[in-house]
Amino acid sequence: MTNTMNTALFDTLPIGVMVLDADLHIRGWNRWLVEYTGIGPVLALGRTLNELFPGLRTPRFDTAVAETLRHGGPRILSQALHRHLIPVELPHLAQYGLALMRQHVHIESVRLDDETLAVVSIIDVTGSVLRTEALTDMAQRLENDVNRDPLTHLFNRRFMWEWLDHQHKQAQRYDYPIAAMMVDLDHFKEVNDRHGHAVGDQVLLDFACLLSGWVREADIVVRYGGEEFLILLPRCDQVLATDVAWRITRQTGETGLGGLPPDQVRCSIGVALFEPAHPQLPAELLHAADRRLYLAKCNGRNQVVADG
Ligand code: GH3
Ligand code: MG
Ligand code: MG
Repeated sequence: MTNTMNTALFDTLPIGVMVLDADLHIRGWNRWLVEYTGIGPVLALGRTLNELFPGLRTPRFDTAVAETLRHGGPRILSQALHRHLIPVELPHLAQYGLALMRQHVHIESVRLDDETLAVVSIIDVTGSVLRTEALTDMAQRLENDVNRDPLTHLFNRRFMWEWLDHQHKQAQRYDYPIAAMMVDLDHFKEVNDRHGHAVGDQVLLDFACLLSGWVREADIVVRYGGEEFLILLPRCDQVLATDVAWRITRQTGETGLGGLPPDQVRCSIGVALFEPAHPQLPAELLHAADRRLYLAKCNGRNQVVADG
């Protein structure tokens, strides 16, 4: 550190150390700061941060320094709130979506020759921020993995039961219905046998996409079994659910799923409704939808059954 103080020790530290006076003029600027900012002591000393970095605004930092000088320290500006004090570009960070070094800032006061000065330590915490973000990402991915079907990325049964338990209580408390559509591809075994399992997988993926296009934000689409899907729609009545189910069967026939020509893949749907006035358990709702799906199959497939 080059200034009137004997602070050579600061030059050995692996953190930035800056000394400021009451007018926020820089009185000390250690080697770490020279290396990371490219600004030497001749330029830095006697200037303010705002003069060194045009456009930089540091109102909270300025207040914290003034408070420290008046009442003593320490004051801390955490990276979580402030990200950084001094802009330091770290080009290799671009791949992680960060451009600037994240800094933890610590301000302390010292008495020197009848003058009170602020000693500002700047600690590079970029590495730990990246590690925390990577862990958060991983936790998010794990959570998705346990709730989703790996092929279609639709929700799985595990998630469905949790969702349905919660929704079932809400529907009773706030008095709204939940529609359930059990959807099954017709003669899907033949699609596999005729075109191969890979085409079958692609049909399932495209069909999952088609179903997802029909739901609102509050609804969920579940891969219930191999080629069986369940759509749950809170606040949807029987008439609307039946209408949507018929539209899904028509759209399925008209769409070239899995690269096959239209009309090669069809589906059947059983619709059932949970109504708070006639309470049913979640399993009973699914059972009713499944029974109607079975009736749709028995009646010749490619259709919707919403009663019986
Ligand atoms: P139905 O109209 O009565 O429903 O006849 P279906 O042939 O669709 O029903 P079945 O239960 O006899 O056959 C289901 C087929 O779905 C057999 C199975 O190999 C296939 N299947 C289940 N999961 C997958 C999968 O993940 N990928 C592929 N490609 N096929 C699957
Ligand atoms: Mg089937
Ligand atoms: Mg089936």
